[in-house]
Amino acid sequence: MLESLIYIVTAVIAVGIPVIYFLRAKKQSAHAEQVLKKAVERGMDEPVSLHPYIDPDLCMGMGACVQACPEKDVLGLINNRGALINPSHCVGHGMCEAACPVDAITLVFGTEKRGVDIPFVSGTFETNVPGIYIAGELGGMGLIRNAVKQGREAVEYIAKSLNGHRADGVYDLVIVGAGPAGVAASLQAKLLGLNFVTLDQEDLGGTILTYPRRKLVMTQPVELPVYGTLKAREIQKENLLEIFMEVFARTDLKIRSGEHVDDILKENDCFRVVTPKGSYPTQRVLLAIGRRGSPRKLDVPGEKSAKVAYRLLEPEQFQKMKLLVVGGGDSAVESALALSEQRDNVVHVSYRRETFFRLKEGNQKRIEAALKRGAVVPVFNSGVTRIDANEVHLDTGGTPLVLPNDYVFIFAGGELPTEFLKKVGIDVQRKFGQR
Ligand SMILES: Cc1cc2nc3c(=O)[nH]c(=O)nc-3n(C[C@H](O)[C@H](O)[C@H](O)COP(=O)(O)OP(=O)(O)OC[C@H]3O[C@@H](n4cnc5c(N)ncnc54)[C@H](O)[C@@H]3O)c2cc1C
Ligand code: SF4
Repeated sequence: MLESLIYIVTAVIAVGIPVIYFLRAKKQSAHAEQVLKKAVERGMDEPVSLHPYIDPDLCMGMGACVQACPEKDVLGLINNRGALINPSHCVGHGMCEAACPVDAITLVFGTEKRGVDIPFVSGTFETNVPGIYIAGELGGMGLIRNAVKQGREAVEYIAKSLNGHRADGVYDLVIVGAGPAGVAASLQAKLLGLNFVTLDQEDLGGTILTYPRRKLVMTQPVELPVYGTLKAREIQKENLLEIFMEVFARTDLKIRSGEHVDDILKENDCFRVVTPKGSYPTQRVLLAIGRRGSPRKLDVPGEKSAKVAYRLLEPEQFQKMKLLVVGGGDSAVESALALSEQRDNVVHVSYRRETFFRLKEGNQKRIEAALKRGAVVPVFNSGVTRIDANEVHLDTGGTPLVLPNDYVFIFAGGELPTEFLKKVGIDVQRKFGQR
């Protein structure tokens, strides 16, 4: 009797476990296929830049990459093979690559269909233009820890190349960009006693500033000059920015924010870094400008006024106001929604197309609901023609429209740094799914 019972239990376990495993795998696969199908339908099936390529011959379907990916539903298992199921949401952390136990994942740039421009950078971070260096994501390696490491190392190489040489009235180094690479480079330059300046079109923090509020930043222990080892593997965006600010204050470092570098001119043995506010003669230049590019301008009268912004950080600061958001992508819609949630705001969205463009599913649903409630008022097929102190002028297919206005937020995409790099003489190669 006992023997038969043991036999039955063993048989149930032997058959049951594989059946449960099979059913779970089937469910996971169906979910992943559904996510991928939606991404394809919405035209969001191309990764933005660095992303994992999963070799189907090596992948054993263990799912370690799916577990490791901190972004939701970016990777999934389809028919027991890892797959990028929401490609445009991959931010290139590379956690998946590190997690794969059989090395089936390689991080690559671009795809067969969509190339990504990568500048030439030598092992010492110098470009083909002697004296101009590149560190951080611009050179092709995403992630905060890589940017910090490269910013620090690039400045060590730069200091070595200068070998203590100084030129009168000329900086040793101009660092362009104050994201993680520029921050680490500035701190290292301070440690090494270089005469340098750091410029940024925006402010200290770089891309981290643009993360959603309270986003958990995933990183790995990294050596930040002056500060020491940044040990946390997970840290809130705000806390990481505070560390940057605290260490800058402690070392009496300041960046020149709001200075967009337009050009770098060669002058004898040196360079002149040109911004709309001035120019900086220097022996060496470090470009730590990331890959987001610069916000595209509308080029309309009044755009330079203080009421115009190209990002929204603190929606709570805008209450009882008349606001215009320009653009129809996710950033524009998220900002319009955030502004519409504040007290007594009137929020218009001006967009040149007939409808919003390739929105994330959640944003699509939320904006539809907001339009229905009248919380956001769309002005499709329109363009801004002038921005005045108390109003904004739109062209709506030949018919002018004037809206009372306190602030304008423009999300018209970005100009990628490729043209700038080429202008400076740096070789840029287009990669199609290669490292
Ligand atoms: C949504 C999102 C989530 C992410 N999450 C993580 C994460 O959890 N962990 C992680 O490790 N990585 C994450 N990343 C990637 C990480 O943010 C980047 O790899 C990192 O910020 C790159 O640092 P960087 O210094 O090279 O460039 P950036 O941070 O992009 O900084 C470049 C700076 O250069 C300035 N600049 C650009 N052009 C000019 C110009 N012409 N003149 C003057 N200044 C200029 C910009 O204003 C910017 O401040 C994420 C990225 C995104 C988009
Ligand atoms: S690179 Fe990062 S976001 Fe992309 S799949 Fe891997 S872990 Fe996820």
